[in-house]
Amino acid sequence: MRMMAGRRESAPSGASAFSHYRAKLIEKRQDLMAAMGLKFDVMAGQGRVAEDDQAQISHEEFISLRLNKLDHDVLKLVNEALDRLDNGDYGACLRCEQPIAPRRLEVLPWAKYCVRCQEKLSSRHCGAEEPDLAAAGAR
Ligand SMILES: [Zn+2]
Repeated sequence: MRMMAGRRESAPSGASAFSHYRAKLIEKRQDLMAAMGLKFDVMAGQGRVAEDDQAQISHEEFISLRLNKLDHDVLKLVNEALDRLDNGDYGACLRCEQPIAPRRLEVLPWAKYCVRCQEKLSSRHCGAEEPDLAAAGAR
């Protein structure tokens, strides 16, 4: 799939793909909010049990908070992705501006970066100058 020029121009297939991703993102957002609400309910319920169980509670509370943090991070990414859908920037890597592979968006509709940039970003061991990612593309 070649989408080099004018990714803001509405490709015929683009619009329906975007609404597909939008639906996925909104669904994910609802899942996350439901999950977070559920955890808060559980935590609130735990507050009412006997004091003997305090140690156990704080452990579970700790886990809940950690999970909530992760959920919160994803929720933020989901919201940002929805913003990009509104702006017409969706589906392009925020770093190299190449289109993100549909395969990747299918799994991670809130992905900000293409696989290559994500790998670079998550494994920044060498401080060397990056090669031109666009030129290195296998087009
Ligand atoms: Zn990229």
